[in-house]
Amino acid sequence: MRRGRPSNKRPVVEPYRRKCNTCGKVLVVKHRRTILPRVGSEFKIPTYNKNATHKKRTELSGAVVEHYCSIECAGDSFINHYTPEDF
Ligand SMILES: [Zn+2]
Repeated sequence: MRRGRPSNKRPVVEPYRRKCNTCGKVLVVKHRRTILPRVGSEFKIPTYNKNATHKKRTELSGAVVEHYCSIECAGDSFINHYTPEDF
C-alpha cells in the first residue's frame, strides 16, 4: 500500500482565465496567491482533523485570491532566490 503523496505528483489545476491582479488583462492564470485570514487567537487554533471534510482554501470565508498572468505580474515573492550555499 502506498502512503502519502506519490512522488512528484502535484494537484492538477485546470487552466482558467481570470483578470490579472497587476496588469488587468484577462489571461490564463499562471500564478495564484491565496491570502488566508490569521487565526483570531493563539488559544483558538483549530485542531487538524485528517478525516474531516475540508473546504478548498479558496472557498474559506475571508480568503482573498489573487490571480497573476505571469511571473512579472506576480512579483518577487514567487521567484526563488536560493543559492547553492543555502543548502
Ligand atoms: Zn498580468
